[in-house]
Amino acid sequence: MVKKITEFVYVIEHEEAANNVIIIGKKGVILVDTSLFPEKAKSIAKFIRDLTMKPVQLVFNTHYHPDHTFGNSTFDCPVVAHNLTREKMEMFDKTYFEELGLEYFELHLPDIIFEDEFVFEDNIKIEFIHGPGHTPDSSYVYIPQEDVLITGDTVINSMHPEIVQDSNLNVWIKTLESLPKAKHVVPGHGDPGDYSSVKKMIEYLDKLKKLFAGELSANQLEFDPNFSERKHAEILEWSIRNLLS
Ligand SMILES: [Zn+2]
Repeated sequence: MVKKITEFVYVIEHEEAANNVIIIGKKGVILVDTSLFPEKAKSIAKFIRDLTMKPVQLVFNTHYHPDHTFGNSTFDCPVVAHNLTREKMEMFDKTYFEELGLEYFELHLPDIIFEDEFVFEDNIKIEFIHGPGHTPDSSYVYIPQEDVLITGDTVINSMHPEIVQDSNLNVWIKTLESLPKAKHVVPGHGDPGDYSSVKKMIEYLDKLKKLFAGELSANQLEFDPNFSERKHAEILEWSIRNLLS
């Protein structure tokens, strides 16, 4: 299902899989993140064709995780990402595909890489900015004219965020605090929301830090709505194991 966020920004919703965002410029479409399975990426391409006659001119990858990047190969246009995103993706070999239960195929690696920021203008100005923390390469998209922020996994709504082995909570919180206070916030997973999603994410990571510092008990977190109301408690357990490793 496609949900309209503003005149030029749409989100493709597929339950709990990564969100894909369509930005409609004057000449063409910019697609943010491409999903895990090539089949799903094809359905994204179809959603775009149903929405507009314009071609997809650029794909942005918010970070290297496969549920945001593996569908790149479906799109015959340049892919833009942080240089570390490309570096990480270059390391994905056949064993990695096997671990994911996927048959091997050649990945479409980012063609255009940036370090701090990539700015693109096609009637509307789109800023693609490095904001590490969830992963060292994580980046977010800001569209000032539309008051829209597309966060990748830096913000997750309605379910627990994935804290991976290369996540850094302090850096992540710093990035969250530096995000533009946009009206519309499209998270990496879960329902689109507003700036309160960013605030909830800061609180969430801050409380996890307090848990590790012994300032909060697991019991206190269990009854905290910012934790208890998120789906997939098993992700939290997994995240805690990653933080401990
Ligand atoms: Zn991720």
